[in-house]
Amino acid sequence: MASEYLVLHPRKATNRLVFSPYQSWRSNPITVMRVFEKRVEALMTNCILSPSQPIGEVEDYFYRVEFQARGSPHIHMLIWIKDSPKFEEDPDRHVMEFIDRYISCKMSDPDTDPELHKIVSEVQVHSRKHSKSCKKGNVACRFGFPKLPMDKTFITRPPTINCHQKEDQNDADFEAQIEEQKRALAEMQKLAKQTLQPVRDLLMDPGASFSSLTDLLCQCNLTYEQYFAAAQCLANTHVVMLRHHPNDCWVNAYNPDLLRAWKANMDIQYVIDDYSCIMYMMSYVAKPEHEMTEFLKNVIKHVKTSDVNKRDEMKQIMQAYSKHREVSAQEVVARTCSLRLKKCSRSVVFIQTNEEGLKMSHPMSRLERMEPGSVEVWMSGVA
Ligand SMILES: [Zn+2]
Repeated sequence: MASEYLVLHPRKATNRLVFSPYQSWRSNPITVMRVFEKRVEALMTNCILSPSQPIGEVEDYFYRVEFQARGSPHIHMLIWIKDSPKFEEDPDRHVMEFIDRYISCKMSDPDTDPELHKIVSEVQVHSRKHSKSCKKGNVACRFGFPKLPMDKTFITRPPTINCHQKEDQNDADFEAQIEEQKRALAEMQKLAKQTLQPVRDLLMDPGASFSSLTDLLCQCNLTYEQYFAAAQCLANTHVVMLRHHPNDCWVNAYNPDLLRAWKANMDIQYVIDDYSCIMYMMSYVAKPEHEMTEFLKNVIKHVKTSDVNKRDEMKQIMQAYSKHREVSAQEVVARTCSLRLKKCSRSVVFIQTNEEGLKMSHPMSRLERMEPGSVEVWMSGVA
C-alpha cells in the first residue's frame, strides 16, 4: 500500500503497518478505485458478455461511473438484449415473461441457496429506516419502498386523459373539459392511495408476516379486485409491478447470477419508456458538471463586467473551476490515474462537416519537422 501512495518506507516500517479491514479500505482510495475498475471489467467480461449470457445475448451496452455524494463509485448501465420483447409492440405477456426470466425480488431460501440468501440479505434489502436520499419533497421514499406485493408481474395501464375537440366546441370549453378530466384523475389517484394505505401500514410493521398476498389483503379488508384497481392508477405512466411476495417487499430487484458475481447492491429494470430512460441517463451523464456550469456562468458574468484583460479573465475562470469542484478522494484517483469512467460498445468518430467548424492542428512533433513557410498546419477533416 505504501508503494501505491509512492511513499518511501523502509521495509521494517512497512511491515509494522497494521490496518483493520474497514480502516484500510476507507483510508486507501487508490486501492478502492482500482479494485472497483477491475471488478466492473470482470463483471462485464466474465459474466454479462460471457457465453453463459446471464441476462441474454448482449447487443450493445453503455455504462458510466458515478460517485455517490462525493463518496464511493457505482455504475449506471444500459444494456440492449437481442430479441428482447418491446413494450407496446409485443404482447404484454411476452414482456412479463422476459422480465420474470431475468429479474427477481425474492428473498432466496436459506436452506436451498444459503449463498444467495446471504448476499440478498446483506445488500439487497432496503432499510426500513430509509436513508437521506429516500426523502424527496413530501414523498417518504422516492424508491417506493415498501413495494406493493403482487402475485404476478404486470404492467400498469393507468387511466389517461382522452379528449377530442368537437367541431362546434370552442377552445375555452375544450380546455375546461380537459381540466375536469385532470381533476377526476387526481381524485381517483387520491382515493387509490387511501385504499392502499392500510396495506402500506401493515407492510411497515417489522413484526408482521404474511403467508400470501390473499392473507395480507384479508387483514386489510380488501378484495383482490379493489387492490389491483387501486395499484393500476397510482402513477400517470406505465409502471412494471414486479412479482413480490408480501414478506419480500423490502427486497430490491436483482438478477440472481449477476448478484452472485457482483456481491454488491444492484437495481435492475426493464426499460419500458425509451424517453424516460434517455432523460435519466443524460441527467447522470451531465450531473457532475451541471452545478459547476451554473457557478461558472456567474463567474464569467462577473468577470465580463469587471475591467480586466482577456488573460486575467481566463485566469479568474480557471481559478474558479479549479477551486470550486467538489470531488471525492475516489474520483480524484479515478481522474488522475486515468481510470475508465465510461465505456460503450460503439465507438464514436467525429466527422467534420463544416469547413468553418472546429480545426485541429497537427501534433507539435510534426509541425517542428515542417518547412518554416508551410501553411499545411491543420489536420484534414474525416469527410
Ligand atoms: Zn427508502
